[in-house]
Amino acid sequence: MAQILPVPNPTKSYWLSEPHRLAKFRSTPDLPATCDVVIIGSGMAGITTAYHLLHSNNHPPNVVILEARDLCSGATARNGGHCKVKVPTFAGFKPGSGSSTVDDMASYVHGIMDSLKQIVEEENLDCEFELRRTFDIQLDRDESKRLKRVYDESSKAGNVWTKTADYIDERFAGQITSIKGAKAAFTGPACSFWPYKFVSQLLARLLAQHSQSLNFQTTTPATSVTSSEDGSSLIHTSRGTIKAQKVVFATNAYTAGLIPQFHDIITPVRGMASHIVPKEPIHPHLSNTYNIDFGPEKGTDYLNPRPDGSIVVGGGAWLFSSDRPSWFNNFDDATPFRPQVEQHWEGYMQRNFRGWEESGAEVDKVWVGIMGRTPDGWPHVGRVPGVKNQWMLAGFNGGGMALILTAAKAVAKMVKEDTGFEDVAGGLGVPDFFGTSEERLQAGNGVE
Ligand SMILES: Cc1cc2nc3c(=O)[nH]c(=O)nc-3n(C[C@H](O)[C@H](O)[C@H](O)COP(=O)(O)OP(=O)(O)OC[C@H]3O[C@@H](n4cnc5c(N)ncnc54)[C@H](O)[C@@H]3O)c2cc1C
Repeated sequence: MAQILPVPNPTKSYWLSEPHRLAKFRSTPDLPATCDVVIIGSGMAGITTAYHLLHSNNHPPNVVILEARDLCSGATARNGGHCKVKVPTFAGFKPGSGSSTVDDMASYVHGIMDSLKQIVEEENLDCEFELRRTFDIQLDRDESKRLKRVYDESSKAGNVWTKTADYIDERFAGQITSIKGAKAAFTGPACSFWPYKFVSQLLARLLAQHSQSLNFQTTTPATSVTSSEDGSSLIHTSRGTIKAQKVVFATNAYTAGLIPQFHDIITPVRGMASHIVPKEPIHPHLSNTYNIDFGPEKGTDYLNPRPDGSIVVGGGAWLFSSDRPSWFNNFDDATPFRPQVEQHWEGYMQRNFRGWEESGAEVDKVWVGIMGRTPDGWPHVGRVPGVKNQWMLAGFNGGGMALILTAAKAVAKMVKEDTGFEDVAGGLGVPDFFGTSEERLQAGNGVE
């Protein structure tokens, strides 16, 4: 079976335009031969797991973080920088294999926004963090009516997720959101930040505080992980083998490359995003973030206005969805989509936003990123099914910024206490359908 590994020379995203001094860092010229915990992956999942393992710990374990390419060069550095759950997602909520409710999910996500803000403030991370409102806009009238019906039923039933949401009807949707052709909109809570800066600065803090116990190694792909007879794991890399008591897989889209039972369970899929810059900043500034649903024939784009007046916009998936090999089961983030697909971003702001017609807005960058898609839409968190001393958090689909932080805290607790998902998830409010298990692997096989 072909290896699933991050490819060389990935496209450059806007978020990677200011590389951190640790981008190519190696704590030591050689890999340590042994350690307590190896974390594979240095995206949001890997670094926040390390943070929770090391933070406020008087006896921190020896941790090695392995990264196949540069620091945080995967999906976390290629996304929309946007942390929210869409109203249509709440409205279509399916708990998968669990019994947690839609309100458990809403509380979980709101808790993550609080915790992100807390870490940004405590660790003094300069990552353009903003607590915001967000618009979910429908351009299709039937879809907006359908969502309004579900929203009204959920609101009547007292569902907590509706309490932080709000509906804007067709009379005012265009005026309030500035989106041309808006038939209706919901508003909700969101936050945004520069994910690469959050992760790289948090790692820098950890390395400064835990220089004896944390070892970070870039450009070191793990090629396989095997178990040894004494219960520890052998992590084989391009630069030698590390023997570790415990392993955490924070490898998202690439997880099946190291844990074969995740083939067809976590599938790499390509997505596209862009950065658009007006000639001069437009006033009034766009304070909210956006998801624009262009209707059933098309799909939804996500938009994150930046504090300097530019904007990150991603999506356009309907332009390539019929060309399945170009995105599905494809982990090549070095090859751009076809020029006809990338054209989606030309004149995007002028076409869609009132007040931007004369903005002279131009595309600065277009890039590709790889998501880890799961059949039921939920991540896999917990002990690797059937394997001792190995844990994982992966398969965050298109929404990891709103899902990862507390899952990482849960995994760190499992690693520290040598326990499983069911032992810690409830106490931290992690929805039970995030738990990975043999049953979930069986149920998911072949479904797509
Ligand atoms: C185009 C795009 C737009 C998105 N927009 C949003 C958004 O607006 N909001 C949102 O919430 N989510 C969004 N997402 C999803 C979000 O980016 C992911 O869910 C999240 O970043 C996953 O974080 P992670 O740390 O699990 O994975 P990654 O950030 O991908 O980190 C995994 C790391 O593991 C490394 N790795 C993999 N295999 C190995 C190996 N064998 N050895 C060593 N290292 C390895 C990789 O190089 C990578 O650095 C988007 C994703 C994409 C691609």
